[in-house]
Amino acid sequence: MDQENSSLSSIYIHIPFCIRKCPYCDFNSYTVSSNGRVDGRIEMPEDSYTKALLLEMSSYAEDELWKEKIVKTIYLGGGTPSLFSDISLKVILEHLRRSFHVPEGVEITIEANPGTIGEQLTEAKLYSLRTAGFNRLSLGAQSWSASKLQSLGRIHNPGDTEKTVAAARAAGFENISLDLMYAISDEDESALLLDLQSAVNLKPQHISAYILSIEPGTDFFRRKQRGETITADEEKAAAMNQLTRKYLRENGYRQYEISNFALPGHESKHNQAYWSGRSYIGLGAGAHGFAQLDEGAEPPKVKAWRWKNAPGPDDYIKRVQSYGRSEISREELTDEQRKLEFFLLGLRQSNGVNLKDFEIRFKSSLPKSFFSSVQYLSDKGMLVFSGSQLALSEAGMIYSDSIIDTLTDNLG
Ligand code: SF4
Repeated sequence: MDQENSSLSSIYIHIPFCIRKCPYCDFNSYTVSSNGRVDGRIEMPEDSYTKALLLEMSSYAEDELWKEKIVKTIYLGGGTPSLFSDISLKVILEHLRRSFHVPEGVEITIEANPGTIGEQLTEAKLYSLRTAGFNRLSLGAQSWSASKLQSLGRIHNPGDTEKTVAAARAAGFENISLDLMYAISDEDESALLLDLQSAVNLKPQHISAYILSIEPGTDFFRRKQRGETITADEEKAAAMNQLTRKYLRENGYRQYEISNFALPGHESKHNQAYWSGRSYIGLGAGAHGFAQLDEGAEPPKVKAWRWKNAPGPDDYIKRVQSYGRSEISREELTDEQRKLEFFLLGLRQSNGVNLKDFEIRFKSSLPKSFFSSVQYLSDKGMLVFSGSQLALSEAGMIYSDSIIDTLTDNLG
């Protein structure tokens, strides 16, 4: 942990409400009907949830650990933050600026669902958000095929993404990211190509392209257990991954992480902060935070820990009203876990990791067995090892999970 890194932090704010639960989604989100009722029973608690966020922010701002930090990135994710009114979202951002040191021009992202355009997300609201300081918009486009959007349980149709991007540009957003999802069972390469072309035609600064994965607890997981085929097989997914990387590269988007592509200079600073192991505060129901502290001991000792907020919105609000925070669990990371994360997070990025940094950070050298695995995987064309820099090759990015597993099994 270098000096500069230790003085910086990021802030993530979670708004856990959605109009419909997508069958692949394992995020902490709760459905609200379009008339603002949670699960059709209770009202979306926008006011009390916003107030809880302000209280939670104030609690961190008074904390010795956080009050001197410079906030380098802010991210409002969900759920669907665009369901909240611009007034609530502005209040949240204003309070954050009053509570922490947020320099001018830092990246402030808000996620929005194209399915909310025209209803909960108007051009006037986008303009209001832009003037409040939000400067990056992340849209869950996923696809331009009506049938694929339906299979993914999305609430929008193919034209909604175009409408949202046009409205966002008119409102002054110059940094737009689109999410795409591919490798569902009946999708072929021509359908994926159409999605990639449609995305690139909109000239977003950033594209995140994810292979559909089946997570426990989701509707897709249950359907898969009943024998339904949901995803493309591994070979087809790998071919689609190759097509995605090739198409985006040829159109000027550099792959800087396994699933993330950007025009030069538009990489997500917020995600890069996570991957480089920077501390961050997670505010809101179910949000996670991470902190690390150099205890100044000799030999150097770094304390790192992670915590999690109560997932249920009502529980979250009650806890914050009573204690200022809603932390329900905390885990201190051992040196072994930190070493593992160094590779897990670092190798996701196309630049990879520097093994000299590892030795400096952990005051230990890597065992012979680690270098044998590096040699073996490099010979197979899965890794690129040059000087002390180690990175996944283009082919290795497809099999990142098993490669990283092999390397981290050999950390000694
Ligand atoms: S809109 Fe996003 S957060 Fe909400 S259910 Fe769908 S994938 Fe999950």
